[in-house]
Amino acid sequence: AQESRGLGDVYKRQIFILHAGEWKVGSKMKDYIVKATAAQGMIRAFACTSKDTVEKARASHGTSPVVTAALGRLLSAGAMMGSMMKDEKDLLTLKIQGNGPMQGAVVTADCNGNVKGYPFEPVVMIPANDKGKLDVAGAIGIGILSVISDIGLKEPYVGQVELISGEIAEDITYYYATSEQTPSSVSLGVLMTKENTVDSAGGFIIQLMPHCPEELIVKLEEKLAHIEPMTTMLHKGMTPEDVLRELLNDMDLEINEKIDMQFHCNCTKERVEKALISVGRKELQEMIDDKKPIEVKCHFCNKAYHFSVHELEEMLERASNE
Ligand code: ZN
Repeated sequence: AQESRGLGDVYKRQIFILHAGEWKVGSKMKDYIVKATAAQGMIRAFACTSKDTVEKARASHGTSPVVTAALGRLLSAGAMMGSMMKDEKDLLTLKIQGNGPMQGAVVTADCNGNVKGYPFEPVVMIPANDKGKLDVAGAIGIGILSVISDIGLKEPYVGQVELISGEIAEDITYYYATSEQTPSSVSLGVLMTKENTVDSAGGFIIQLMPHCPEELIVKLEEKLAHIEPMTTMLHKGMTPEDVLRELLNDMDLEINEKIDMQFHCNCTKERVEKALISVGRKELQEMIDDKKPIEVKCHFCNKAYHFSVHELEEMLERASNE
């Protein structure tokens, strides 16, 4: 009897460890962005965990693993870069156009952690790269990264750089160096489960402000050279705060803000209707002549909107009166 009780205890303990392990890998950790400063404001830092956001993008667009990784990296970067903006109405768009099979992707974020995005081609099947990893650079190919800041001016500000690697983090680093003259270190990662859902995702952006002393730069470079990949840290259960502490804890790190992050699309039937009208009256008339209801899907979230022939006729009438 004693023996079986002993076994029972071991069994219970294993269950406990299993649960603790599951909790620790962060499956319950909600997505968020942290904003921090270090070295008396000489360093600006952002970090995020974005598993649910990337998983929602994967599920909405039915992306294959390499596209999930590429889109996930871009969503994480977009959300962090969006959080650097000041006004509620400001929008930041990252657009990648490449000659690879994925062709590119678009991500739009606001300053409150709302981010949405879509790939130009959701299903790409290519072999792993020479490191045995999902070949994001191969899927994207040679091309251009555009950073479009819409901050309520007449024209949005557009910065463009050639892709230097196609792995996205390096490309954003290069963008900051050339277009904004801000030395940065960007790390982005998406780790898939065996079932090709998202296990963990996230990233960080560390930026040096002007007049940063050389010794501080050397110290930071040393830390960056030895830090583990972002997804390794997140998979172990480290939070974005832990990641920043790992990098900046002896440089007077101050965590200033924590913002919830989510995949959020603001599409409505009304907005889709406006887009349909903008296609042109002739095209609208052709749809009506087909005498079949139509389905229009939102690019960003893939939600389907249906319009009856009667609704199309009403739209055409309104368009004609305008
Ligand atoms: Zn949508």
